[in-house]
Amino acid sequence: MSNVFVIDTDYNPLDPVHPGYARRLLKQGKAAVYRRYPFTIVLKRVVEEPQMQPLRLKLDPGSKTTGIALVDDGNGKVVFAAELAHRGHAIKESLDDRRVVRRNRRNCKTRYRKPRWQNRRRKKGWLPPSLESRIANILTWVARLCRLAPITALSMELVKFDLQQIENPDITSVEYQQGTLQGYEVREYLLEKWERTCAYCSVQNVPLQVEHIHPRAKGGTSRISNLTLACEPCNKAKDTLDITVFLAKKPEVLKHILAQVKRPLKDASAVNGTRWAVLQRLKALGLPVECGSGGLTKYNRTTRGLPKTHWLDAACVGKSTPVGLSHTGIVPLQIKAMGHGSRQMCVVDKYGFPKQHKQRKKTFLGYQTGDMIKAMTPKGTFEGRIAIRHRPSFRLGKRDIHPKYLRCVHRADGYEYIQKGVRHAPPHD
Ligand SMILES: [Zn+2]
Repeated sequence: MSNVFVIDTDYNPLDPVHPGYARRLLKQGKAAVYRRYPFTIVLKRVVEEPQMQPLRLKLDPGSKTTGIALVDDGNGKVVFAAELAHRGHAIKESLDDRRVVRRNRRNCKTRYRKPRWQNRRRKKGWLPPSLESRIANILTWVARLCRLAPITALSMELVKFDLQQIENPDITSVEYQQGTLQGYEVREYLLEKWERTCAYCSVQNVPLQVEHIHPRAKGGTSRISNLTLACEPCNKAKDTLDITVFLAKKPEVLKHILAQVKRPLKDASAVNGTRWAVLQRLKALGLPVECGSGGLTKYNRTTRGLPKTHWLDAACVGKSTPVGLSHTGIVPLQIKAMGHGSRQMCVVDKYGFPKQHKQRKKTFLGYQTGDMIKAMTPKGTFEGRIAIRHRPSFRLGKRDIHPKYLRCVHRADGYEYIQKGVRHAPPHD
């Protein structure tokens, strides 16, 4: 089961505890609920010089979802897991909308204004707002978890493959197909180099096999430069034919493959800008950061027999991953970045005509959009993220709910939370 975070009355993080123990502390009045998401209790006393088990925070940054796992390297237990959904796409869309509106407004021939270019240079290290938002989400959660748990080290997946693992000419072709860490790194390398397509028929989204361009039966080596990816039918059809014979009728494909073979792929090209920026900013936090490759993550996950999920990928990042990784009962907290609302006071329809004016204040009867609430209505009990109106009828999903039925469990902080399958002790207040 996911453990419960504990802090003492001076807000110093302590070891996370079992939910049953946390429930007892709450019942005895020795602790109070500090945060609902992630569930944290605060002790009503100071703990002098606590003996703590150091934890490692592991991250698998993705473009849509980032996996987060807190792992105790000592006993191999996953203590906490979460999946953080980003809103880069929503940011891009709203900026595009704004650009259209401005373009229209300026195209109205009401005045002439000289074009201004010189004051619009981008600073060095500039990233698009959608990417900045992803990085900010990750850093927010690293900082939050560091406040709630004794985290002493960080791990993140930085590259897709590790070139140093690959540069070894004497491995057999069997090793590429299954098994070793090297095999996984080579596969990731080839997937990146050949753009996840069959080299011969360009089919995508099918299982691809590692293929020798110059066949082994005719003295071809297993060097990485002699390898490509092919779907099963193509691989069988080519068999031990030479590539020039096999592609005699498709000269363009042959030309493309031979050109692609010569193009070396650097390790750096497997790092994307966002991950690199995340690494730079994590280093600035002062904790040691371990970097892993995608091939290593996949190898760790497969050898431990774990399914592919964002949070388990995160738990498998890096060389520090314990051999016996135990995750019994862990249900990841689903975190979704929602933003903090917009400042736009006049909502327009799709033609640009005003259809609604917003009020200056963001709260009504003490609630604001984004609050996580529990509603106990005559029709049943509902939980979730509320959207307010400036009248006593709020929106919860597709329901209209009167605020008199509500109880706030977590104030709006820019994220929506869904915790499935776990019922924490309902604190009575
Ligand atoms: Zn094919």
